[in-house]
Amino acid sequence: MNDLKPSEYRVLRGDEIVQLLAREPSLHELLGGDCSTWRVRDVADGNINAVYLVDGAAGGVCVKQALPWLRVAGDSWPLPIERAVFEDAYMRRIEPIVGALAPRWLHFDPVMHVIVMERLEPHVILRQGLIKGRVFPDAARAVADYVAAACFHTSDLANGFERKYEDLALFSRNVALQRITLDLVFTEPYIEAARNHWVEPWLDGWAASLRNDLALKTVVARHRLHYLTHAQALIHGDLHSGSVMVTERDTRVIDGEFAALGPIGFDLGAFIGNLLLAWYSKAGDAVVPSGSTYRQWILDQAVVFWQRFDQQFRSHWSGHVASNDAYPPSHFASAAGQARLALIQRDYVARIFDDMLAYAAIKMIRRIVGFAQVADFLAIEDLRKRALAQAGALALARDLLLHPHRFPGIAALVDAAPRYECVGLDPDLSRRA
Ligand code: ADP
Ligand code: MG
Repeated sequence: MNDLKPSEYRVLRGDEIVQLLAREPSLHELLGGDCSTWRVRDVADGNINAVYLVDGAAGGVCVKQALPWLRVAGDSWPLPIERAVFEDAYMRRIEPIVGALAPRWLHFDPVMHVIVMERLEPHVILRQGLIKGRVFPDAARAVADYVAAACFHTSDLANGFERKYEDLALFSRNVALQRITLDLVFTEPYIEAARNHWVEPWLDGWAASLRNDLALKTVVARHRLHYLTHAQALIHGDLHSGSVMVTERDTRVIDGEFAALGPIGFDLGAFIGNLLLAWYSKAGDAVVPSGSTYRQWILDQAVVFWQRFDQQFRSHWSGHVASNDAYPPSHFASAAGQARLALIQRDYVARIFDDMLAYAAIKMIRRIVGFAQVADFLAIEDLRKRALAQAGALALARDLLLHPHRFPGIAALVDAAPRYECVGLDPDLSRRA
């Protein structure tokens, strides 16, 4: 085998990955035995990077390499490999905060831009599990715990501003992936863009109405600006159901390369928005074991998710006595001060709820008329039926943005979901929902 030259990044072949792992004594020991017997499996099913599982005699690891382009687009879409530096930095930053809710972080090779982490097995991607109609009793609670802990402890509520500014200085350099979020999530679904697609011709009317709705674009612009300016906490930045790996008993959040300082509601909205997409994708005759019971379970998870986040976030806050620059404990030490702080906490979390709904809506829209579609809807083979299911999600999303006062709490959200289900393909008629 050739020795790897330290200054030369290149896309690694399987044997070169083995070589890289074998050079690290701790990884060699973890994998065990003779490295020539290690097996490399390509498991990349995300859009962006190369991912392999490597199995040795004693154990296995997951290896992720940033390619100089977007994996699904090839060299027509260049993308800086430095994104791996930010994924590594994010996962190491939050590991002590979230513990076993993320994979154990094992190694980073700054030349090859290779991450080595705990191999999660027999975990599956939550989205794939939801498509199959599988129940994961603990997933929503665990992801809520993850967001509550990761976001609370990287916010101004938990730290002096110096700590947050360190995070800002580092993660504000993660610009290539922020550009993707800005373009694909916030901007392109509302204009004619070459990368957009939707179920044609059935959703042509919906796509046009999103482009022409000035009121909607005004609200989206407000949330885009809020996303850019509200450095509330270190967020994951891409926390959809494809970034969560699960078994019936264990839940892990992966894939933090979109990390940024931003609004907490963006992470919550990504997760709950994708739960809602999963719910809408099971409309009509989509194949789901135990149909309506399963759909109800999905909506129940949205409730569990929000309630658990609300409770955990406030509990982190109440239990946090260290000094911080937002609400210094010395200002609220009296009994009256404590009572006031409880009110402040409720108000703070209520504003996160509002953000969550808006970002959930924006995420739902971009997954139906934008570049990156979700696999959930592909289970509906009949394109007209698929479009009908998606139209329900679009109609809910539009009302979440235009009429947020109709959704004062999580119960209102899940009660509303079925009302939008049969709105039909005409975006104007569906305004009556
Ligand atoms: P991308 O950045 O390309 O979206 P992901 O981090 O989402 O890459 O990983 C792509 C796929 O690789 C996941 O969908 C999952 O199937 C697999 N994978 C990622 N991390 C692990 C892990 N720690 N253990 C096992 N499989 C993993
Ligand atoms: Mg991914």
